[in-house]
Formats: sequence, C-alpha cells, structure tokens
Amino acid sequence: MTREGIRNIVILTGAGVSAESGLATFRGPDGLWEGHRVEDVATPEAFRRDPGLVHAFYDARRAKLQTVTPNLAHEALARLDEQWPGELLLVTQNVDDLHERAGSNRLIHMHGQVKKGWCLRCGNRFAWDGAMGTGAECPSCGGIGQVRPDIVWFGEMPYEMERIDQAVRDCDLFVSIGTSGAVYPAAGFVQTARYCGGRTLEINLEPSMGSFFFDESRMGKAAELVPRWVDELLA
Ligand code: NAD
Ligand code: ZN
Repeated sequence: MTREGIRNIVILTGAGVSAESGLATFRGPDGLWEGHRVEDVATPEAFRRDPGLVHAFYDARRAKLQTVTPNLAHEALARLDEQWPGELLLVTQNVDDLHERAGSNRLIHMHGQVKKGWCLRCGNRFAWDGAMGTGAECPSCGGIGQVRPDIVWFGEMPYEMERIDQAVRDCDLFVSIGTSGAVYPAAGFVQTARYCGGRTLEINLEPSMGSFFFDESRMGKAAELVPRWVDELLA
C-alpha cells in the first residue's frame, strides 16, 4: 500500500491487537471473556444484580495490566501517530492502556478504560489504580460505594461518537485491526468510510464478520502485519 492520495487516516483496533501482549480476546474459542459470559460481567443489568462479581472481574483485568507490555503492533501504531503528517485518529475498543503506554496520542477509547473510575453520585471520571470493589471512595465528592469502572457496557452509548463519525467520514483510509466486527456501532465504521469514498483495509487473524466490506484483507498476527503495513505507509 502506498500513501498516494492518503492524508486522513482512521484506525480501529480491538482485542486482537493486545492478544500478543497476553490479554485474552473476547470471542475466543469458547466465546467467553476470561471464563465469563458477557451478560454476567459487561452489562448494566449485571452490575445492578451482582456488583461484587462485576467489580472482581474488572479488578482482575486492572491487576493483569500490570503484568503485560505493549507489543510490536502497538509500537508501530505509535510510530505512525508520531510520523504521519496528515490527520490520524486511533479509535480503540480496548479498555486496556497499551496504546498510550506505547506512545499513541491521537487516541479515543470508545468503550472506556479499565484504569478509570466513574462516580454515579457526582458524575466525575478519574484515573484509578488498584482494586475498586464495592466500597470505593470517590476522590471528587467523597461518596462511598458509588464508583463504577469507566467502561461502556453492552447497551450503553460509546464515547465520542460524533467526533469518531466525523473522522470516519473524512478519512481517505480506514484500517480495522484485531476486531471481530461483532460489536456495533464500531462494526459499522467500515461501511461509513466506504460510502464516503475512503479506502478500507482489514488486518485480522481470520476474516471478521464484515470482511467483505473491506477493499483489502490481510490475515495474520497483528504484531507481524501491523509493523509491515506502517513501514509501507511511511516509506
Ligand atoms: P473480539 O475478542 O470480539 O475479537 C478479536 C479479534 O481479533 C478476532 O476476530 C480474532 O480473530 C482477532 N485476533 C486474535 N488474535 C489476534 C492477533 N494476534 N492478531 C490479529 N488479530 C487477532 O474483540 P473486539 O472486536 O475488540 O470486541 C470485544 C469487546 O470486548 C470490546 O468492546 C472490548 O472493549 C472488550 N475487550 C477488550 C479487551 C482489551 O481491552 N484488551 C479484551 C477483550 C475484550
Ligand atoms: Zn463522586
């Protein structure tokens, strides 16, 4: 792929980009996320029903992050962010912090972040390290037990959708990396990009659900294919 005619780039990443860092993807072979059904840990209903279980799940995800590091795919995307002279937006569905640890700056976490909390009493959001649990104290208002992980659960509205939608419409190249294409609205970005005249590329271990919407599909591991693609683009 050459950079001819490309100025604005939007990149969408999913759990597959972090797989080689040692973080489990979500629709793995068993369709579970770290042994849990999504309905039990990643919905507002689950949190109302059993906040202890949901907190334990995200506390474990947060603790696990201390033991992993960005891989070559995260690093290549950070290099592209640093060196690309045109517009660039990295939109991640991931709730881990590996893109920012690799150095990406033009980044949106559309599904929130495991290392942030959101107080349901005062509405503030803040950085969170360590366990949260059901008895957490809000650093803004001092309220106890009303802090939840700042994660967009199934049935909730992803963050910054207007800004993302505009960037997808304006992009000359849309690239989807390591996502199954099963979770909307992210799964629909490729169709918007196409409709607005952008070229579309998918990099994934296997064809995603919306694979046929892409002009080009490259199948393989993100840590191998993403650095190669970034080299092509920056050449
Ligand atoms: P997904 O788990 O549904 O799909 C991951 C995709 O990545 C699959 O198509 C798989 O074939 C592919 N893949 C696996 N290993 C790969 C590799 N080494 N290189 C390239 N591709 C690889 O993930 P999703 O589409 O992001 O949707 C999952 C939802 O669950 C998201 O909303 C996300 O917030 C959440 N989630 C986040 C994390 C994380 O933050 N690291 C992990 C699991 C789930
Ligand atoms: Zn508060």
